[in-house]
Amino acid sequence: MPRNWLSPASSGGLALLIFLLLCGPALAGAVSTDLPGTLSQGGLVVVRLKPGSRLDVAGKSVHVGDDGVAVFGAGRDEHGPLAVAIVEPDGQRRDTLIAIAPRDWPIEYVNGVPPATVNPPPALAARIEREQAAVTAVRNRDDDREDFLSGFIWPVQGRISGRFGNQRVYNGDPKAPHSGMDIAVPQGTPVRAPAAGIVTFAQPDLYLTGGTIVVDHGFGLSSNFLHLSKLEVTVGQRISRGQIIALSGMTGRVTGPHLHWGFNWFGVRLDPLLLPGIASP
Ligand SMILES: [Zn+2]
Repeated sequence: MPRNWLSPASSGGLALLIFLLLCGPALAGAVSTDLPGTLSQGGLVVVRLKPGSRLDVAGKSVHVGDDGVAVFGAGRDEHGPLAVAIVEPDGQRRDTLIAIAPRDWPIEYVNGVPPATVNPPPALAARIEREQAAVTAVRNRDDDREDFLSGFIWPVQGRISGRFGNQRVYNGDPKAPHSGMDIAVPQGTPVRAPAAGIVTFAQPDLYLTGGTIVVDHGFGLSSNFLHLSKLEVTVGQRISRGQIIALSGMTGRVTGPHLHWGFNWFGVRLDPLLLPGIASP
């Protein structure tokens, strides 16, 4: 920070600091009334329409709150353009195309992974399928809660050790792209809820993801936290933003301690790094 940051000579800087202190959290969650012209792959749109509007995205009806708030996202492999139709309360229809900005997806080579987690023995296939189906099911929830509106905070502070969408090659074997963001933190680091929500899934020992929690933020938006060493919440629990929900760990398919934070709009995986309040470092 500059030495004169708070000196009388830098009253502009002081005014800016006060403005940021007063408005920072609110700005993070500010909702536009305009749709963006362009959306990045993995990006989320939070928009406020006229109350009573209807919204279709790519031919599917999207939840609009009583206050007109709606959310939708673009998956990693979305190429667009996204056809968006808004029908306002007076029946007037507006059609918009949102261009999708493509991203580069570097290849990450992850070596030293326990072979049994890269290509699990057939005897475990049923267990893995059952566990993944249980997580997929809770992501279909569409609660009329706007916990996402206040913006998001980092669940832990640390170096990003794995980015959303990167192609993953485990022990030389190409696998599905990375579904979230990895943050390197020592085992036992407290994990905080990035936004308020309801715990919809909490299991200490899934085969691939270890200690696993899903928090539902409303309107189909949910966070998942993987490889946890200890769970501090239970299913159905209401949690506030910043509340400690777990301790990080290295359970499941990992090579070292880190927190995996995944973010979904229903079944569509989005990039946590693009969320309101989570600035790219
Ligand atoms: Zn990960």
